[in-house]
Amino acid sequence: MPAPANRPLTLLISLLAVALIAGLIMTLRPDPTPPTPTPNPTTQSPPTLSALARPPEWPRLNLYQNTITRDDFRTLLTTVFTTGDAWRNFIEISETSARIQTGEPPPADIFTLHFAPPGLASPTPRQWKSAADLPPPPQGKPLDGLHIAIDPGHIGGEWAKMEERWFSVDGQPAVTEGDMTLLVAKLLRPQLEALGARISLVREKPKPVTPLRPESLIDQTTPPPGDDSPAALQKLAERLFYRTAEIRARADLVNLTLKPDLVLCLHFNAESWGDPNQPTLIDRSHLHLLLNGAYNNEEISLADQRFAMLEKLLQRTHDEEADLGTTVAEVFAKASGLPPFIYPPNDPNSLPVRENPYLWARNLLANRLYDCPVVFMEPYVMNSITDHARIQAGDYEGTREILGQPRISIFREYASALAEALAKHYSDNRR
Ligand SMILES: [Zn+2]
Repeated sequence: MPAPANRPLTLLISLLAVALIAGLIMTLRPDPTPPTPTPNPTTQSPPTLSALARPPEWPRLNLYQNTITRDDFRTLLTTVFTTGDAWRNFIEISETSARIQTGEPPPADIFTLHFAPPGLASPTPRQWKSAADLPPPPQGKPLDGLHIAIDPGHIGGEWAKMEERWFSVDGQPAVTEGDMTLLVAKLLRPQLEALGARISLVREKPKPVTPLRPESLIDQTTPPPGDDSPAALQKLAERLFYRTAEIRARADLVNLTLKPDLVLCLHFNAESWGDPNQPTLIDRSHLHLLLNGAYNNEEISLADQRFAMLEKLLQRTHDEEADLGTTVAEVFAKASGLPPFIYPPNDPNSLPVRENPYLWARNLLANRLYDCPVVFMEPYVMNSITDHARIQAGDYEGTREILGQPRISIFREYASALAEALAKHYSDNRR
């Protein structure tokens, strides 16, 4: 997930706030919609929502009445899910309940969640299975009974330039993240199936999952102040298509049709490469994994994101994501030799997880919307000298000499490390 490349100057200026954050943390915020002002629940205005979001169905949270203690709720809310204090404007915690502002007009303006007394929490209802929910597996099949959806990040193919996941060094074959993630997904699928899992790919081709296209989204863009030129509107509509509409379509597929126990979001990281036809190559590479959390003050003020955060918190996806993420980070770091990528301290968009330098919480559209635990992979740096050489070598069996070192294919290293880590997590943690 690289930083933006070669944007028109005017758009860059108008998106200064986003660009500043992206520059700091190297990867772009995946949901670029600027939040609108904090809603006032006493007015009759509709709830304030993210781009293309549906209004939340707050009564769904009734499933979680009396399933969490006050202390667990407050600890998860303040140490995993939020980076600021704005949640206090929307969630009032008493001894026995949380009063949550829905953004709806009265009388539906408050949702009350009742806490369980200590030691008396009811089981958490959810449609996915954690490792501990699964019975002991048959010999050699640690993933038996598990349904995993693999989400190859981005679209690739003819869409790679539009989605700014395309660069070419000195006229060599282009690096397109969406095609590379699909290649890894197709290498990973048979390995996980051999371990007993049922596997679904969220996409099988370098084609969008959403039927929407930029031209059908032009009307829904909000031009930045001072630039409503056709070129600027087109750029915004394209982003609304390949980022927002595409991930929302994938979420509908995952949540309504596939209903997996786990989603693996596959990405390759990058650092800012500048001109995609004359990209900057750098001499470092790194690895990190993203789990859902770290909602900032603006995100908490949006009713759909507040609802999604509470649903994640109440389903206890974080425990499963952090347990699995710890094992994936350990196995992947050993297999790849990659050092951790470290976010800046006090970043409003990220939080460290369990003091593991490879594990970070961030609120991404995909890890927020998929209704089960999600491990979002960000290994390698596509425009690092070494990783670029490995990508140019393509996929192959055995080892080849890359820049003087014998290396296995970067795509096989990625897939095999993930398969090994999943086998270990489920072997170690099933009943
Ligand atoms: Zn990516």
